[in-house]
Amino acid sequence: MVTIDTYDFAGKRAIIRVDFNVPLDSEGNVTDDTRIRAAMPTIKKVLEKGGAAILMSHLGRPKKNNDMKYSLGQIVPAVEKRLGQTVLFAGDCMGDKAAEMAAALKPGEVMMLENLRFYAEEEGKPRGLAEDASEEEKKAAKKALKEGPQKEFVKRLASYADCYINDAFGTAHRSHASTALIAKYFPNDKMFGYLMQNELKAIDNVLQNPQRPFCAIVGGSKVSSKITVIKSLMERVDSIILGGGMTYTFSAAQGGHVGKSICEPDMFPVALEVLKTAQEKGVKLVFSPDALVADDFSQEANTQYASVRAIPEGWEGVDIGPEGKKAFREHILGCKTILWNGPVGVFEIDKFATGSQSVAEAIAEATQNGAYSLIGGGDSVACVNKLGLADKVSYISTGGGALLEYIENGDLPGVAAIRE
Ligand code: AMP
Repeated sequence: MVTIDTYDFAGKRAIIRVDFNVPLDSEGNVTDDTRIRAAMPTIKKVLEKGGAAILMSHLGRPKKNNDMKYSLGQIVPAVEKRLGQTVLFAGDCMGDKAAEMAAALKPGEVMMLENLRFYAEEEGKPRGLAEDASEEEKKAAKKALKEGPQKEFVKRLASYADCYINDAFGTAHRSHASTALIAKYFPNDKMFGYLMQNELKAIDNVLQNPQRPFCAIVGGSKVSSKITVIKSLMERVDSIILGGGMTYTFSAAQGGHVGKSICEPDMFPVALEVLKTAQEKGVKLVFSPDALVADDFSQEANTQYASVRAIPEGWEGVDIGPEGKKAFREHILGCKTILWNGPVGVFEIDKFATGSQSVAEAIAEATQNGAYSLIGGGDSVACVNKLGLADKVSYISTGGGALLEYIENGDLPGVAAIRE
C-alpha cells in the first residue's frame, strides 16, 4: 500500500476528500476553521512534492443542487488564508467547467469542487420521492440511483485525478461516492491523508495495544444509542464509567426511583443484561451514586443532590453529584488508557456541566501522569476545548460517529476502501 510519504506526486493530480463541513455565520463566513486547518498538512504535502490538489467535501445537509446557502464557494477565502495561495473554485462537481479546470490544473495549483451533497448521487439516497411512496418503491429508487447515476458520478469524480487521498475521518463511516466508492478507480494510487493516519493510529493505540487498566467513559443521553458500543467495549476494557442520561435507565431497571429523569423502560432488559455480562467478563461498571437533580431543564432551575436510586417525584437527574465526581476522578486516575465519549450531564447548560468538567480535568491529570487518553464525540471534545485542556489529553478525534463505529466494527467503509 502506498502512503502520502512514499507516493510520487510529481506532475500528478490528487483528488482529496477533506472534511470542510465547517460552521458558517449568517453571512457565510467560517466561524471555526479547525477542520480546514486539520487538512492542511496533507494538501501542503501534495503540493510540496510537485502535485496538484483537487479538494472535495460536503457542507451541511442540502436537499437539492444549487442551494447556495450550502455552497462551498463561501469557504474558499478561509482555505486560501490557511494555504497562503489561490484556490480555484469549480462551481460544480460535474459539468464541463469542473472537468476542464481539473485537466488544466498545473503542479502546485489547488482547485475545489462544489458541495458533493448537492448531488443525491454522493450519498446514494434518492430525492423527490412521493411522500406516500411504499418501502418497495423507496428500495427500487435507491437501487436505480446506485446502479446508474451514482456509478456515473463516481466515475466522473475519479476522471479528474491520477490518485485519491481520503483525509475525512468524520465521514469515513459512510459508504458514499467520495468517501469509499471512488477508491476502486485507483487500485494502486489510493492512500490516507495525514489526519486519517493520525486518527487511525490513535484509535489502534487504544484498541489493539492498550496499557492497562483500560477504562472507557461513556456518557450521553440514551442507552439505546450507546448500547452497541457499550457491548463491544466490554470485550476490550477493564472498566466502563457510565454517565449521563443512561444512568437513570440502569437505576430504574434495578428498582430505583428516577423521578422525571430521562428513562427508557423498553431498555430495562438490555441494561440488566449489560450488568450481568460485565460481571461475567470481570469488567467493572462504575456509576455515580448521586445526581444533581433539577426541577426544570434550564439554567434557572432549582437544584439539589439526590441518590440516583431515590430521585424525588417531579425532579430529574441532570449531572453527577459530588460523590460521583470523587468516584469518577479516583477511578480515572488509576487508569493507563482512557477513552471518553459523551458528557456525563446536560453539558450545554452551565449549571449542569460541572460533572463533565471534572471528568475532563481528571483525564488531563491522568494523562500528565503518563496515561494515554483519547477523546471523541462532539460534546466531550467541546468540553475539553472549553476548559482549555485540549493540549493536556493525548488525542482528540475529529469524528464522533466514525470513532464509535470503528470501535464497534473494527473497520469503516472509508478505511476498508483504502486498505483492501
Ligand atoms: P450523545 O449524543 O448520545 O453523546 O448525547 C449527548 C447528549 O446527552 C448531550 O446533549 C447531553 O445534554 C445529553 N445528556 C447528558 N446527560 C443527560 C441527562 N442526565 N439527561 C438528559 N440528557 C443528558
